[in-house]
Amino acid sequence: MSVLACEQLTRTYGAGEAKVTALHEVNIEIEAGQFVVFTGPSGSGKSTLLHLLGGLDAPSSGRVLAEGKDLYKLPEKELAVFRRRTFGFVFQSFNLVPVLTAAENILMPLLLDGRKVDPGWLDQLTQMLGIAERLSHLPGQLSGGQQQRVAIARALINRPRIVFADEPTGNLDTVTGNEVLALLKQSVAELGNTLVMITHDPQIACQAGRRISVVDGRLLEEDAQ
Ligand code: ADP
Ligand code: ADP
Repeated sequence: MSVLACEQLTRTYGAGEAKVTALHEVNIEIEAGQFVVFTGPSGSGKSTLLHLLGGLDAPSSGRVLAEGKDLYKLPEKELAVFRRRTFGFVFQSFNLVPVLTAAENILMPLLLDGRKVDPGWLDQLTQMLGIAERLSHLPGQLSGGQQQRVAIARALINRPRIVFADEPTGNLDTVTGNEVLALLKQSVAELGNTLVMITHDPQIACQAGRRISVVDGRLLEEDAQ
């Protein structure tokens, strides 16, 4: 069984003359442990698709199945808990809380659910990502690459089955972006996670096991490696 799937997924924005169909009846099945990349021009529907697959939006029609659960049939609160337990998110803009330390940012998903912190796991994760010495810093005291590593640790602290990354290297220079991507790939591989990523960067796209172009809200599967 696929870990993540969508069926006839459609998302429109606006109404009447201003109506935009961002996704047209999209179908996809993603197997556990796959590294899948969505590429395609700006405005083609990549972020809309990622947000829908990640339970962050609501489709106009169609459905999303994650670990067999029909996401948008779940009540809002249950969806929020399921999302925090099953998914990790990494965004282009890091999205760290500026007044919280790196450690507090990383632990946020646990604290939101009143779950216990496993100090050994926090230590292992931050060592792996090379930020163990930066845990008491505020995001503003960290470089972009370090901030993104903190965001990756936050995405992984709950041991999620699926990690979504929307242009995770988009705000980083090439060298730092490559380092961050290597760490993200290494950590999801070690944890056996599924990684679903949007990127404009062909150098990054070619590292994925599966590449899908998004064009005008429709998917074009490219040859697998
Ligand atoms: P991409 O991530 O590939 O750049 P998006 O999913 O952001 O594409 O956008 C797909 C289409 O949906 C575009 O035409 C965009 O303008 C439109 N769109 C995205 N978000 C909104 C929104 N909140 N309101 C109205 N239109 C939107
Ligand atoms: P991008 O940098 O790719 O444009 P955004 O920063 O705009 O992505 O975030 C996309 C959406 O996801 C926003 O509505 C934001 O509130 C939401 N979001 C961001 N981080 C999380 C998270 N960890 N959990 C749930 N929702 C999030």
